[in-house]
This record gives sequence, C-alpha cells and structure tokens, in this order.
Amino acid sequence: MKTIGLLGGMSWESTAHYYSALNRGVKNALGGLHSAKIAMISLDFAPIEKLQQNGDWPASAVILSEAAKSIESAGADFLMICTNTMHIVAPEIEKSITIPILHIADATAETIKSKALKTVGLLGTKFTMEKDFYKGRSQDKHGINVITPKQTEREIVHNVIMKELCLGKIEPSSKEKYLQIIEQLAQQGAEAVILGCTEIGMLVSQEDTDVILLDTTAIHSDKAVEMAVG
Ligand code: GLU
Repeated sequence: MKTIGLLGGMSWESTAHYYSALNRGVKNALGGLHSAKIAMISLDFAPIEKLQQNGDWPASAVILSEAAKSIESAGADFLMICTNTMHIVAPEIEKSITIPILHIADATAETIKSKALKTVGLLGTKFTMEKDFYKGRSQDKHGINVITPKQTEREIVHNVIMKELCLGKIEPSSKEKYLQIIEQLAQQGAEAVILGCTEIGMLVSQEDTDVILLDTTAIHSDKAVEMAVG
C-alpha cells in the first residue's frame, strides 16, 4: 500500500473529514484492521487566511512548499493538498517535490467525465470561483464548461465558508441559501454542482437536493484510496 501525503489544516474541520474518509476507504477496500498509511502536516490556517486576504500567494507558496517537502521526507508516495483554494499554488508546490500531486480539480473532472456531464456549477471560496486555476483547468484540460453564481451569491458562498464552516459552525439559514444558489445554477444549465470547497459537504449533502452534487472532499479521498491500494 502506498503512503498518502496530506497537506491539511486549511481548515482542520475538513482535514478531519479527509482523515476519516481515507481510513474508511482503505478499510472498505482491504478489510479487517487495515487503515490508510498517511504522512500529514496540518498547518495553522490563520496566517494562511491572512495571506489569502492580502493576495500574497507567493508567501503562501513558500509555506506550503516547505510543508510538502517535509511530507515527502516522511515517506509519502503522493501528495494531496486538502483544500481547493490553495491549489492556486499547486504549480509552485509541484516544483519543490519529486512525488506527484493528486490535483483536486483533476480528480473532480475525472468524475464529471465518467458521468458524461458537460456543464457544471462551481461553489467555493471567491478565489476558487473567480480565479482561473480551477475553472480554467477544468475547461482547458478536461473540456468541461464551468458556471459560477453571480457576484452577490458568490459573496454569500464565500462568507459562509470563512465565517462559519471553517469554524465548525453549521447554520440552517446558510444551508437554505446554499440550496437556493444550487437550484439557480441548475436553472442556468448546470447538470451538477461541484462543492468546490472541502468544507461545503459539512453543510449540504445529496439528500438535500435533486441536483447532482460533486463533493470534492469525497471525490479527492476516493481517488487517493484507489491510488494507495492500487
Ligand atoms: N477548504 C477550503 C477550500 O477547499 C477553503 C479554505 C481555504 O481557503 O483554503 O477551498
């Protein structure tokens, strides 16, 4: 079995879900007392979030690359960055290590293509919804059309992530807002909606809506289990 490298803590709320999903996945695949082999570094999210706000991606790339190098030294065979947003600096991290990165947008795109979907909605932080690293990769590399909510809705989605979900707060009123936004995306032509932030699965799940939801934490973890157990 391969050792999974986890670059977590962004936020720790979702990293905890990764940790359970990976262990559960390996147990399901191999049975008995089997569990995932994991080398993890969990960062303090507060300084990272400050750098995000300041748009200082180069400084965050340095911090994440240092952590990635330590994870590689600890014996990881491949790396997972446990946040969609910080894949902004995946190219810099990639250059600092020799093990491959299991990119969250690629894992999600493979699932989208396996379901023969062409147009999907994307929810995430404002960085994920507005910058090109995620939408652009899905469109250019995988041929998937990605649509995002309009400005006011993007702000709601972002604020709920940062002010509630990353702090472990689950508010029913926010869930309602998210479900409305998901419905609007479906009306605009989205055949499914990517939960493109690793905390959103804590708020909404497939039982809440008829729209197909693509939970990136679950998809990313499932791919990692496949890679780890071969
Ligand atoms: N975990 C989140 C994501 O998947 C948001 C926190 C962050 O900004 O890294 O994008």
